[in-house]
Amino acid sequence: MRSALRRRLLQAAHTDALAALDGDTWRSRCLHCRRALALRADGEALGTTSLEHVVPSAWFGRRAAAELCARVGFEPDDPRNLALACASCNHGKGCTHDARGPGDARAREVVAALLDARMARWREPAETP
Ligand SMILES: [Zn+2]
Repeated sequence: MRSALRRRLLQAAHTDALAALDGDTWRSRCLHCRRALALRADGEALGTTSLEHVVPSAWFGRRAAAELCARVGFEPDDPRNLALACASCNHGKGCTHDARGPGDARAREVVAALLDARMARWREPAETP
């Protein structure tokens, strides 16, 4: 797996209040369905764990998404915009809400609610991974 992806998965874990290091494995829960997820301490995703961009990367620079993008510093890879999610939940969101684009009010509403859920789980990182 690419090292940039491993680093982002670790940033998501370090800043996730539900994530805990258990031996050499991070354990947390999917941002969508709360299913248990695991990540190796070196950032290798285990099982169905995937990296979720809460505000879709493709929405950055789009005027309709400006308010959402501002909440994560206009940076798709800001840790506030990164979360651990099941591959199936992540794919499902990508195929429905993200694909509709920020011009769709329902898609914006879903992404805003997810960002609320992400920020409710925010933890200041103890160290920079
Ligand atoms: Zn899930």
